[in-house]
Amino acid sequence: MTTELFREDAYLKSCTATVTGCPGQVLHTDQTVFYPLGGGQPGDTGFVSFEGGRARIVDTRYVDGDIGHVLEDGSPTPAAGAAVELEIDWDRRYRHMRMHTAMHLLGSVLHYGVTGGNISTEKSRLDFDMEDPIDKEAVGAALAELVAGGHGVSCRWISEEELDANPELVRTMSVQPPRGKGAIRLLDIDGVDLQPCGGTHVRSTSEVGAVRIGKVEKKGRHNRRVNIHLDD
Ligand SMILES: [Zn+2]
Repeated sequence: MTTELFREDAYLKSCTATVTGCPGQVLHTDQTVFYPLGGGQPGDTGFVSFEGGRARIVDTRYVDGDIGHVLEDGSPTPAAGAAVELEIDWDRRYRHMRMHTAMHLLGSVLHYGVTGGNISTEKSRLDFDMEDPIDKEAVGAALAELVAGGHGVSCRWISEEELDANPELVRTMSVQPPRGKGAIRLLDIDGVDLQPCGGTHVRSTSEVGAVRIGKVEKKGRHNRRVNIHLDD
């Protein structure tokens, strides 16, 4: 299994790694800074460099249960055992981190069940299980206040035994943790949100920056889709 360096430090832009295989233009390595598609967050893009070649990574996703870096068609491929340098498209990823953190803030402002979501660099959306209309101005103001508040954002791992021993902790979570998969990664936005999440986030809500509420769409009687944009 690939060591997922991005889970411990989302700000790592590059790393060295050893190739464990590259079947069908999908590169597998012993460790990586590339986030694989999941939880509504797109897979990272970037480059892999190695002796005698360099290839563009156009997507990252789990392939056969392990992280696969999808190489551009026709790229040279490094051999198994080769040392490589992996480098993500940081500007794109950093926007995903800002957006992802903004989504948690939005979820904490609108206290309804979240039924879906999707993140991109320019626009993201969350679907809420709700019938009430949304006061865009009030929600936008609440979001801006949370950003300006500079709340610390951190992740920690917790075992299921620890969770079972702390029912109070489980009650405070906005989303219930998955069970039966071992240790759970908790995202903690200081004083704002606590929930299981495997994605990449910024260190402080102040880094979210200029976030704006976009269109609110009515998708059925029990579903409101709220779009958000980054304005810089
Ligand atoms: Zn998250």
